[in-house]
Amino acid sequence: MVLRPQSPAQVQDAVRYADRHRDVPLGVRSGGHGLSGRSLNDGGIVIAVDGLDEITELDGGRARLGPGARWGDVAAALASHGLALTAGDYGSVGVGGLATAGGIGWFVREHGLTIDHLRSVEVVTADGELVHASATENADLFWAMRGAGANFGVVVSFEFELHPVGSQVGFAMLVFAPEDIAGFLQDWGTTIEAAHPSVTGTLTISPSSRARPAMAQALIVVDSDDADTVLDRLQPFAGLAPMADQSVQLMPYASLLAQPAGPEANLGRGEPLGHSGLVRHLDADVARGLADLLSSKSSFILSVRSAGGAVAETPADATAYAWRDANFFVATLGGGSLDFEKHWNQLIPLFEGMYLSFETDTGPDVVARAFPPAHLKRLRELKRQWDPSGLFRDNFFIDPTVADPEAAELSVADDSVR
Ligand SMILES: Cc1cc2nc3c(=O)[nH]c(=O)nc-3n(C[C@H](O)[C@H](O)[C@H](O)COP(=O)(O)OP(=O)(O)OC[C@H]3O[C@@H](n4cnc5c(N)ncnc54)[C@H](O)[C@@H]3O)c2cc1C
Repeated sequence: MVLRPQSPAQVQDAVRYADRHRDVPLGVRSGGHGLSGRSLNDGGIVIAVDGLDEITELDGGRARLGPGARWGDVAAALASHGLALTAGDYGSVGVGGLATAGGIGWFVREHGLTIDHLRSVEVVTADGELVHASATENADLFWAMRGAGANFGVVVSFEFELHPVGSQVGFAMLVFAPEDIAGFLQDWGTTIEAAHPSVTGTLTISPSSRARPAMAQALIVVDSDDADTVLDRLQPFAGLAPMADQSVQLMPYASLLAQPAGPEANLGRGEPLGHSGLVRHLDADVARGLADLLSSKSSFILSVRSAGGAVAETPADATAYAWRDANFFVATLGGGSLDFEKHWNQLIPLFEGMYLSFETDTGPDVVARAFPPAHLKRLRELKRQWDPSGLFRDNFFIDPTVADPEAAELSVADDSVR
């Protein structure tokens, strides 16, 4: 049963209805881009808030966004005022799923995560109440909503502080044909880390085939509308490996997120398997592990995205999203072979955390990788307070009934978070 509330009061009704029908699964759906299709379910209830798609600019450089709004529409609406909000790289992704998990987008190194700009949320909690959460009101809930929001309710509106953006940004597509993937990854890592904060890059590598060598496509945004500045900041990337193709252009940020609309744009299901990890540096071990994964051909795509820079300006304990020192976010998709799992499992110990938006595995092990122990302990305490019987469980369920070992966790957490 798909419930499609059109107002916060109807969301409250929907949550109370779902609470009376605990015997079936419950999904919460905004834009429908959850990677494993986790916002849908088979034989249960879905609360689809795509109708709450408000985009309202407020005074003081702020905006109120409904969970059903799409990031492409948000960027387009704000552009004429010289404002933007760093979000994902894909315009039809919904506000609801991304802004409750993190938000790693084209300005991440300059402006941090999407959740770092969140100033308040209106959320319908498990008891059906409409709760306002901000730094000064229900601050604990506000903390949890920024990184683990899916566990705590259905957000019906977000208030964000925006950041300025020029009329154009630099956008480069560089296609490399590296002979040594591991060496190339290491060089890419040091180049990104040394780059100006306005530079954010995504590297997508597909394995070699009989017809062609492995190709690495770099998409790089430079937040400047000055062509010379853009070229200057891109120059260090040019020598990383032989280039098969390149293009650099100035274009509006909103155009980067503009997606062709259509019924096929979003089918609410993901790839067979997707895994993700966060890592501080692309050092020799990480680079070798990723290169091995690619050469196994069990992964059909590997993506290494910028996640650092301004993300580290927010303390690790300020939000449920904890991995503030990670400079890179690795995501891979595979067809489900045992080889894929074997190579990925070998990489896991090299990561310092995980961004849950790109992970199709679920269960306690995955939750333990997504949050460091002290964060998970606090999240469980808050889950006991706000959703003690676990109504919201579709997306990396934080089980409130699990007891956390006390002292051991706290001492480990201090090391692992900072
Ligand atoms: C093509 C593509 C590109 C992407 N690029 C990026 C990127 O660049 N950066 C990035 O950070 N992420 C990216 N993502 C991941 C994306 O952020 C997540 O998949 C996100 O969950 C999608 O949000 P949605 O509202 O569209 O999804 P939905 O499928 O509607 O929701 C996903 C989950 O979010 C939770 N949720 C949804 N709405 C609410 C709500 N109102 N209140 C509380 N919880 C809610 C639910 O648990 C739900 O299961 C990308 C995904 C895709 C498919």
